[in-house]
Amino acid sequence: MNITQDKVVELDYTLTVNGEVIDQSEPGEPLVYLQGHSNIIPGLERALEGKAVGDELQVTVQPEDGYGERDEENVEELSREDFEDDIEVGATYYAQAEDGSVIPFTVMDVSGDTVKVDFNPPLAGMVLNFDVKVLNVRDATPEELDHGHAHSDGDHDHE
Ligand SMILES: [Zn+2]
Repeated sequence: MNITQDKVVELDYTLTVNGEVIDQSEPGEPLVYLQGHSNIIPGLERALEGKAVGDELQVTVQPEDGYGERDEENVEELSREDFEDDIEVGATYYAQAEDGSVIPFTVMDVSGDTVKVDFNPPLAGMVLNFDVKVLNVRDATPEELDHGHAHSDGDHDHE
């Protein structure tokens, strides 16, 4: 069975940026996603289209097909008073938007009462290198199609 629209795919992956491993699936805990529903970044989803179990591939994803380009307008200065307790440079914090959604950001610098933060995704602007092995491909269940994502055994509950 090949990877096409609406297939549920299991794969092992290693993500490397500038020769450094940024992320990888744990042994026995593959990434499970639903093809064609933007569950994963577009460049990787496109490269996997048509592949089959056992296929191994190396995929280079440019920023526009990954997490987008960096936008310096997304670097902002906040007041120290907006933070509780200690601030750790390099750490990820979460802001709540007016619509209730949660937006992650990274603290870049603290100077006096000013905290410089970056709302760009950490991998924005980066060329991503994926080493991928396809472990399993199956049809999605009607429920998975309805939800637009894969359900692997007990990995999430639905109310
Ligand atoms: Zn679901």
